[in-house]
Amino acid sequence: MHHPQGTGQSSRHQPVLVNGRHYQWPRQPTVVVCFDGCDPEYVADGLIRGVSPRLTAMVRTGFYANAHSAMPSFTNPNNVSIICGAPPKVHGISGNYWYDRDTKTEVMMTDAGPLSAPTILARLSQAGVKVAAVTAKDKLRKALAVGLAGDGCEGIAFSAEKAKYCTLAEHGILGDEAQGGAPVPDQYSPELSLFVLDAGIRLLKAGRAELLYLSLSDFVQHAHAPGAPESDAFMQAVDARIGALLDAGALVGIVADHGMTDLSLADGTPSILYLGDLLDERFGEGQLKVICPITDPFVRHHGALGGFVRIHALGDVDHDEVREFLSGIPGIQHALLREEACRRFDLPMEREGDVTVIANKGVALGTKKGAHALGELAGTRLRSHGSLAERDVPFIVSHPLKADYRQTARHHQLYNYDIFDFVLNGTRGEA
Ligand code: ZN
Ligand code: ZN
Repeated sequence: MHHPQGTGQSSRHQPVLVNGRHYQWPRQPTVVVCFDGCDPEYVADGLIRGVSPRLTAMVRTGFYANAHSAMPSFTNPNNVSIICGAPPKVHGISGNYWYDRDTKTEVMMTDAGPLSAPTILARLSQAGVKVAAVTAKDKLRKALAVGLAGDGCEGIAFSAEKAKYCTLAEHGILGDEAQGGAPVPDQYSPELSLFVLDAGIRLLKAGRAELLYLSLSDFVQHAHAPGAPESDAFMQAVDARIGALLDAGALVGIVADHGMTDLSLADGTPSILYLGDLLDERFGEGQLKVICPITDPFVRHHGALGGFVRIHALGDVDHDEVREFLSGIPGIQHALLREEACRRFDLPMEREGDVTVIANKGVALGTKKGAHALGELAGTRLRSHGSLAERDVPFIVSHPLKADYRQTARHHQLYNYDIFDFVLNGTRGEA
């Protein structure tokens, strides 16, 4: 395995510039885990109750901070931000789903063409670093693989969901190796995430990658609060695998794409504000369109409900009147005009709504009563994300930081998309 050491880096190992930041080559196998939906509460609970000893040891010997996610606190914008080292205004992915003003159609992220910025994974791979990305779901893999795998690229990128169908041409690895003899888990199961971590451990041990990005699924966190038996079992299983990565000599960074909040009333029914119904009543049927950017083919566990939506004016409606009307509704924390939302949250203008709406903690924003598949919650409490309440995420590095990085962490708000900078540039690593 190619394994550059810290001393005397040759010119071949010059830092690589990506979206305004330089990244050093990994000095030892380096793994970034996106622990999907891992609210800081799960990490705290695991520490307090002794559920996750390896994570707890990482926090003690390395570094821990509460970081922020990019907004909205959804999966795809944050995964892409993490691998670009930059917020959505730089790479253009600000939702799983959006309304295209020009074509007047609703579009899934994966159908929307390439990212508008290169990724750290792609650029380091192109420089000669052995890079692999493994995701739980295949639609996310397609976004993360841009410039990394397929189309003559040198890297590896595959999903747990479609591991057995991998080809050298598209994924940089064959199905048999990607699957590693493990059964491919159901996409609605905790095992999907464990498969991702196991695949990462195999790639690392086989010397197939020296920089890995492993992105899990938030299936368990949508269904179970911290401390529930199912959450404990999952935390223990993830913890053991983090331990295996460390035992194999890796430097490990862990962030989440977003946190998770219970969005149910005391009686267990979901707490939903149907903005489409309220807007129709106030401004007339069909004047305004509510887009829930959490919308996703993988919806069983959240019914496309979260704490962030975009309003698009189809008819001749004054945007500021809409903003003012929404601001006056209890349960809404912010209703912002497009420019203000983009300025405050580093969002790309072309994909922002005319009015951006963020809910208070514990409130879900929907379109119209009956439009969301609530039956799929199957009697469990609605837990989801998207608002500022789920913006806090853990930021954990297994090794001690250099002094200047400790200073930065103390004086500036960290974001989950700072993690590659911290693991590649900010650690002392192993001498
Ligand atoms: Zn997520
Ligand atoms: Zn989710």
